[in-house]
Amino acid sequence: MARSYFIETFGCQMNEHDSERMAGLLERQGYVAASAPLLADVVVLNTCSVRERAEEKLYSRLGELRDQTVDRREPLTIAVTGCVAQQEGARLLTRTGSIDVVVGTQSLKSLPGLIDEAVRDRELGPSIAKARAASRIDLHPHDDVSFPLGVAKPSDPVRAWVTIIEGCNEFCAFCVVPYTRGHERMRPIADILADVMEAARTGHPEVQLLGQIVNHYHAPDDPSCDFAELLARVAAVPGIARVRFASPHPRHVSDRLIGAIRDIPQVCKHLHLPVQSGSNRVLGLMRRRYTRERYLELIDRLRAEVPGIALSTDMIVGFPTETEEDFDATLDLVRRARYHSMYSFKYSPRPNTLAIKRLPDDVTEADKTRRIQALQTLQGEIQTQWFEASVGSTEDVLVTGPSRRRPWELSGRTSGNTVVNFPGPAEWVGRVLPVSITAAAPNSLRGVPLELSTMEPVGDRHAD
Ligand code: SF4
Repeated sequence: MARSYFIETFGCQMNEHDSERMAGLLERQGYVAASAPLLADVVVLNTCSVRERAEEKLYSRLGELRDQTVDRREPLTIAVTGCVAQQEGARLLTRTGSIDVVVGTQSLKSLPGLIDEAVRDRELGPSIAKARAASRIDLHPHDDVSFPLGVAKPSDPVRAWVTIIEGCNEFCAFCVVPYTRGHERMRPIADILADVMEAARTGHPEVQLLGQIVNHYHAPDDPSCDFAELLARVAAVPGIARVRFASPHPRHVSDRLIGAIRDIPQVCKHLHLPVQSGSNRVLGLMRRRYTRERYLELIDRLRAEVPGIALSTDMIVGFPTETEEDFDATLDLVRRARYHSMYSFKYSPRPNTLAIKRLPDDVTEADKTRRIQALQTLQGEIQTQWFEASVGSTEDVLVTGPSRRRPWELSGRTSGNTVVNFPGPAEWVGRVLPVSITAAAPNSLRGVPLELSTMEPVGDRHAD
C-alpha cells in the first residue's frame, strides 16, 4: 500500500509554496496525501521562525504528535523543515528524540530520500537509527535554485505561486530571513516563464511572484530583463489574467516598475510596501535605508501615476529604544499614507539578528500592547473609510471560491486585493467579473455581479 504524508505549514507564502513543492516531490516518489496528521505515515512540520517562540511551538507540537501516536504499530516518521530547521539544525535532534529528518530551506529536494533513509534506519534497530541521525540532516546552502517543472502541487484552484528570488542580502536589524533563507539568488527567467505557462495550462488565472525583495529581480540568463520586464513577460503568457507579487522593498521601487503597474492591465493595482516604522531614528536602527520623507514621496508618486492604487504595509511597534515620540511619528505616517491594509507586529528579538546582538529589548510588553492597539484602531478607521468610499462603484473581481463565512455565496478579490462576497454559481470560480459594490464590512465588501443584476433579482437569500 502507498505510504501517506501530511504537511503542516507555519508562516509566510514562501513557506506555503515550499510545502506545495515538498508535496509534489513526495507524490512523485509514490506517497499519497493523508487527510489528517494522525492518518499519515509521514508528517512534515514546515516551520517559520519570524515570530516569537517558534522553537517552543515546534517542540510542543512534536510532543502532541508523539503522545497521539504512541500506540501505533508503525511509528510515525517526522520531518522538520523550513526556517526553524535551518536555524536550529542538529540541536533539534539532541533536544528531542521525536525527529527523524531535518531539512533546511535550501535543501527541499533531499526530503524524500532522507525520509526513505529514516525508514530503512529504523528497520535496522533503534541504536543504529540513533547513531545515523546526523546523516538525515541537510542544511546545505545550495546555490542551485532550479526546481523540477510541474512538480509543485498548487494548493489553490485559482492562484499559483511562482518563486523568482530566494534569500535576501538586506540584513534589516530585526529580520531572521537572511540567516534562514541564505543570500539572494535569482531564478532564471526561462524557469519562471515555464512555471507561469504550467500555471496557465493547469487553469490558474492568477500568478503570484514570490521573493524576499521581488523588485530587486534581474534575470541571470537575460541581462535586459529587470523586474518590470519580468512583469511584462509574465503578463503576456496566454491564460494569465492577473499578476501579483510579494514583497517589494521601498528603496528598489523604480519608475519602470511604477510604469509597469500603471500600463500592464494584468498587473494588479496593488503594492505592498513594508515601511516598518514612521520614525527616521528607528528606521536607521532597523537598517531600512530610506527615510520617512522619501517613503512618503514615493507614495505620492505612486498615487499620481496609478490613480486608485491600493497600498498596504508591514509595521513593527516596540522596536528597541522606540520612544513615544517615535511611535507618534509612526501614527503620523499612517495618517498620511492612508493604507488600504496593514500587518502590524510587536517586536520580538530573533536569533542571530543585529538587533538581538546590539540593542536592548527595552520597550515594555505593556507599552508594545498599548501601541499596537492604537495603531490598529487608527488603521481600522482608515480602512473603513476606504471601504465605505467604494460602495456604489463597480470593481473587477477574480472569483476565488466559496465565501468563508457564507459558503453558499462566492468570494473574490479586487485588483487592489480587497475581498468581495456576492451571490453567484460555483462555475464562476476562476473568472474575472464586474461586481457592483453594495455594502462595506470591516474586512470585506459585499456586491452584486453585473451579470446577476441584469437577471431576475435573486435577492439576499441567506442574509445574516
Ligand atoms: Fe528581512 Fe529586510 Fe530582507 Fe525583508 S528586506 S527579508 S525584512 S532582511
